[in-house]
Amino acid sequence: MTTALVSHPDTLLHVMDGKHPESPARITAIMDALAEQHLIGKLQRHEAPQATDTDLQRVHDAAYIRHIRDIAPRAGVVRLDPDTAMGPMSLTACLHATGALIKATDLVMQKQTENAFCCVRPPGHHAGKARAAGFCIFNHIAAGVAYALETYELTRVAILDFDVHHGDGTEDIFKSDQRVMLCSTFQHPFYPHRGADTRTDRMINVPLPAQSGSQAFREAVLQNFAPALQRFRPQMLFISAGFDAHENDPLANLQLSTDDYRWITQFAMSVAARHAEKRIVSVLEGGYHLSSLAQSATAHIRTLAGL
Ligand SMILES: [Zn+2]
Repeated sequence: MTTALVSHPDTLLHVMDGKHPESPARITAIMDALAEQHLIGKLQRHEAPQATDTDLQRVHDAAYIRHIRDIAPRAGVVRLDPDTAMGPMSLTACLHATGALIKATDLVMQKQTENAFCCVRPPGHHAGKARAAGFCIFNHIAAGVAYALETYELTRVAILDFDVHHGDGTEDIFKSDQRVMLCSTFQHPFYPHRGADTRTDRMINVPLPAQSGSQAFREAVLQNFAPALQRFRPQMLFISAGFDAHENDPLANLQLSTDDYRWITQFAMSVAARHAEKRIVSVLEGGYHLSSLAQSATAHIRTLAGL
């Protein structure tokens, strides 16, 4: 079985301003690298549909979804928080990005593919039930998890979040849901300045100081995530795949290498093979150094595909 690559060209049309690091060039860099490495033809390509209000309402308040639909501008940009804005095509991009998770979940659960990578933007893991934040408007991974729980009647789903920033929106949405475990490594103290003191037996938050590097990251995963996942026995694994902990990333200082992304992907695959019939849905979150993002994401996808 091949790995699915779920994407949509309209996710490139979300533009906040010319110099914003969360730019369409991020997707282009990954797709170009996949083409250069002759990987595109080895992946199962799927176009992401638009998420429906039903998909969004599993994780967002109806009033918040209405607000985002109402505030979407016909021209120019509107600011949702100091780091996050919407232009005329941003809503369309967000709906396809969330829709990618719905599509990927169906592909994996219906065994049309073993695993899937959603190459979409903007990222989503800072978006809470009624809150846009940190470049994120809708929480795509949360929508995918909630869809899997409801549609396929799963009772244990785990999220692995190795973005350099804590997945605070995802934590907000699932902290009271016994069916969901979140395993999150993140630089601390750092944006969004949350997560370090909210660890529970299902919210496995592992703050790492700046400059931690590969060895500390891998030890943190093996000492914290491995026993928690062994105990939880997830039926499906989702990955918030942010690549902004890379040593070249301009926004953070965790100092991971491209090889760490191959390693963490193998870790996720071993967990999924043991407990979850190999089912993994991964989605792009952060990563702002274009060539390092492209190399890290292709290492992740290549590993998922066993290539
Ligand atoms: Zn990030």
